[in-house]
Amino acid sequence: MKTTTSPQPATDEGTPVSVRIRERLVQARKRFHANDNIAQFIEPGELAKLLDEVEGKMQGVLDSLVIDTAGDHNTGNTARRVAKMYLNEVFNGRYVQAPTITEFPNAEHLNELMIVGPITVRSACSHHFCPVIGKIWIGVMPNEHTNVIGLSKYARLAEWVMGRPQIQEEAVVQLADLIMEKTQPDGLAIVMEASHYCMAWRGVKDMDSKMINSVMRGVFLKDSTLRREFLALIPRKG
Ligand SMILES: [Zn+2]
Repeated sequence: MKTTTSPQPATDEGTPVSVRIRERLVQARKRFHANDNIAQFIEPGELAKLLDEVEGKMQGVLDSLVIDTAGDHNTGNTARRVAKMYLNEVFNGRYVQAPTITEFPNAEHLNELMIVGPITVRSACSHHFCPVIGKIWIGVMPNEHTNVIGLSKYARLAEWVMGRPQIQEEAVVQLADLIMEKTQPDGLAIVMEASHYCMAWRGVKDMDSKMINSVMRGVFLKDSTLRREFLALIPRKG
């Protein structure tokens, strides 16, 4: 098992798994903000241990909220449910590798504006962990060297990026970087429109306000006609 002669740390037993993962991140000088993916620093089997750890901490939160989870049948299993929801569902995009996407060469030499959307996106804000739910539209300007990916793959990439506590402005930039890297188009445009439940459920309690933002890359930055064409074609309404 041991392949090194350097002294091993005394023992890992009893060290919370989150601490071990965090040590690897610090060692590698990798950022681990809420919207960063840390999958490559998690070893097989550790996600299950992380789930147990988060459940324990979540139980502590419920205890501090003075909720009788032992007597209240509704909240008896809430700590585990919330831990599962965070790790396996809503924040899963932090803990798993990017979806595998098969890229094809652009055999047809497509070079016309292509628009994908609306794609429904679900995320949560980094500030309050409240849901952020909305839609995105993606405009791609391919060239003959652009890799082509299936339409559904855009949705899978979006789901992976949005499945983290996010800030909408940063989420669209992360998604744009990822699609640029995977497909190498001449230009890329993304528009996101979303409701932020931290504004509806708390705070100003405004049920209707939406945040819209966009990111433009390549020819979409240089060519205002193309940019207008994209914005005119996306059927955004209310
Ligand atoms: Zn918020």
